[in-house]
Amino acid sequence: AATLGVLGGGQLGRMFVHAAQALGYRCIVLDPDAISPAGAVAEVHIKTDYLDSFGLAQLARDCDAITTEFENVPALALQTLAGMRVVAPAAAAVAVCQDRAVEKAHFEAAGVPCAPHAVITNDIELAAVDPALLPGILKTSRMGYDGKGQVRVSTPAELAAAWADLKRVPCVLEQLLPLQRELSVLVARGADGQIVHWPVQQNLHRGGILAVTEVPAPDVPAEVDELAVNAARQVAAALDYVGVLCVEFFWLTDGRLVVNEMAPRPHNSGHWTMDGCEHSQFELQVRALAGLPLPEPRQHSAAVMLNLLGDLWFTEQGGPTPPAWDRVLGLPGTHLHLYGKTEARHGRKMGHLNVTAATPEAAHAVALRAAALLGLPTDF
Ligand code: ATP
Ligand code: MG
Ligand code: MG
Repeated sequence: AATLGVLGGGQLGRMFVHAAQALGYRCIVLDPDAISPAGAVAEVHIKTDYLDSFGLAQLARDCDAITTEFENVPALALQTLAGMRVVAPAAAAVAVCQDRAVEKAHFEAAGVPCAPHAVITNDIELAAVDPALLPGILKTSRMGYDGKGQVRVSTPAELAAAWADLKRVPCVLEQLLPLQRELSVLVARGADGQIVHWPVQQNLHRGGILAVTEVPAPDVPAEVDELAVNAARQVAAALDYVGVLCVEFFWLTDGRLVVNEMAPRPHNSGHWTMDGCEHSQFELQVRALAGLPLPEPRQHSAAVMLNLLGDLWFTEQGGPTPPAWDRVLGLPGTHLHLYGKTEARHGRKMGHLNVTAATPEAAHAVALRAAALLGLPTDF
């Protein structure tokens, strides 16, 4: 394959394009926005809607293989393209990840436990909710990310009110679980069924948005580590998945491990692999799509990733102005990745800072200094 296509023009697409270009591929990005992080670095940017038949026809004509970087790309677009070209991951696998109710059913079918939950699509299901699921989190089944479309509820009355606030769209109510930590596992699976994985990642979220990822995850017992890796491999195999897949887990205070959700693409919690591993998640996404060999990813450095949200662009003096990067870049083992977004907004992912070191303790210490210099919380 000489030309690779990407549906979606966000930062994940941009980092995919960079990895693809390093391996000698041309890239075509389809994204409706006039300016996008991936569209700006691809050789060609098709600026049509995801379901526009001219846009899809051009993508299919000019690409040898096509992927998606955007979880909510209409599955129909992938399906249409699949009739003409290699498409990975497949529309069916992406569709499972797009609907929390279907996703949870998939986890259960694959033998991987998830949070106790109930599906709410009508008043009968609402009335039938087991009170043992409260307190819980009501989540829209579709389109949510970064904690959007989620409401915490404690009583049946609050649940009913929250569902009305969410315009009665199909939802899943999940029991609020006592989390010890959050973990995630990235796997890459080839069309031949070979699966490789990266080490277990520890994730800290603030306000529903990933803030910090640390690898190796400190003090995770070997059996929890093994359970997480096996579950992620199991989930990918059961989906007949091709490409990079991320599975998020809750490690509970009682020691149990349950799966939270998955993402059918490279994931924010895997950005550390760009500097901490021999092969990044984006390189393996390119390789899986192009049918190239998938090496077992080897971590060569301990790593901490700090997400850089648009909030950092705003100070008491106003803004938006980018932070003074030179101060953190003076720290050892820091690697800055900015996504080329022209407009900073609160909660918007603008970039990330990877800190790598020979030991987890050293990476952690430098990451704390970097966070302090940037004015980020040092609660990790
Ligand atoms: P993403 O941006 O990762 O796709 P999302 O919007 O799909 O996020 P979730 O991963 O479902 O959201 O939830 C966001 C965060 O909220 C979780 O990482 C976790 O911190 C918290 N959370 C979600 N569900 C639960 C639960 N059942 N019990 C406790 N905490 C939860
Ligand atoms: Mg999600
Ligand atoms: Mg999540």
